[in-house]
Amino acid sequence: MEQLWRRADRVRREYVGDAVYLRGLLEISNHCVRRCHYCGIRADNHQIERYRLTTGEILEGVRQAQALGIGTVVLQSGEDPELTTEWIADLIVQIRRRYDLAITLSLGERGYDELAYWKQLGADRYLLRFETSNAELFARIHPAAAGRVQDRIIILHQLRELGYEVGSGVMVGIPGQGYEDLIEDLLLFEKLDLDMIGIGPFIAHPDTPLGKISWEASDPAQVPADELMTLKMVALARLVCPQANIPSTTALATIDPQQGRELGLQRGANIIMPNLTPPDYRRKYEIYPGKACLHEEAISCHCCLERRIINTQRTLGRGPGCSPNWQRRRERLSTT
Ligand code: SAH
Repeated sequence: MEQLWRRADRVRREYVGDAVYLRGLLEISNHCVRRCHYCGIRADNHQIERYRLTTGEILEGVRQAQALGIGTVVLQSGEDPELTTEWIADLIVQIRRRYDLAITLSLGERGYDELAYWKQLGADRYLLRFETSNAELFARIHPAAAGRVQDRIIILHQLRELGYEVGSGVMVGIPGQGYEDLIEDLLLFEKLDLDMIGIGPFIAHPDTPLGKISWEASDPAQVPADELMTLKMVALARLVCPQANIPSTTALATIDPQQGRELGLQRGANIIMPNLTPPDYRRKYEIYPGKACLHEEAISCHCCLERRIINTQRTLGRGPGCSPNWQRRRERLSTT
């Protein structure tokens, strides 16, 4: 294991350097029409109060991000039809007009035309995890939307074709996930030539189907949803996609609040995503229970993360921190 950790850390330093870039996360809506078996904000969970931030609240979050020196804002939500094409378009235009930071969207499975439109207006990146490369397992835990064929891989190809920096990723330890699935996940990261790769442990949420079933965690064929397995995947992802941006995820920090973030950074990761959602809303964006940094104000969350970065002998990245992988792709395109 020591060899893997050292190699992942060396490759990380060589390809993306010592800077750790921050992404300010704004969870803009927890309304969702989907019924994902793992996710706490699924449509059928009536235990949570739903919210949607106003444009003003979002712009205030973006202002705060810029004031803290964060170069990217990530707008994430459930699959919420009320976040219409035009509403998001207007938001992008307003952010672009006032602030100078990269805009990342993570709004679930959206249509080609709106993705193209948002890109044209100034969206830079899109995050859509494929969750698992095992199509049969994915179909089981992520029922298709009515009347739609579900294929996140096709959407990831579309995003790439549209010029987005493309982020995806997986959960580790989904009930029913085996080791071969993890190998296929890594190969798919490589095949999709991802610019960003988010990897977190699956965390059971009691108000979801996967949180209710009793499953055989002791089955030797079942991948454990633990810190070590997640870190192995982070390290291997770094070796497979050396130029990608890889976050040390909130889910990892949730299962190890003491040092999950640091271990991620030491074993291949180069990105941290401070949560800038106003605390009253943040509590309601409960995709899994006990999410790290649940109660902190944006500013204290940010300061704590900065301290953790400095403590791991790394530097704080300034500016948007584009993925070297995407930059390379863009240069190649412009010379052909
Ligand atoms: N609606 C958007 C954003 C979902 S939340 C979308 O579907 O893309 C972002 C990520 O959180 C998901 O992609 C999933 O990988 C992760 N997530 C959701 N529920 C989780 C759980 N119970 N445990 C761990 N990660 C979870």
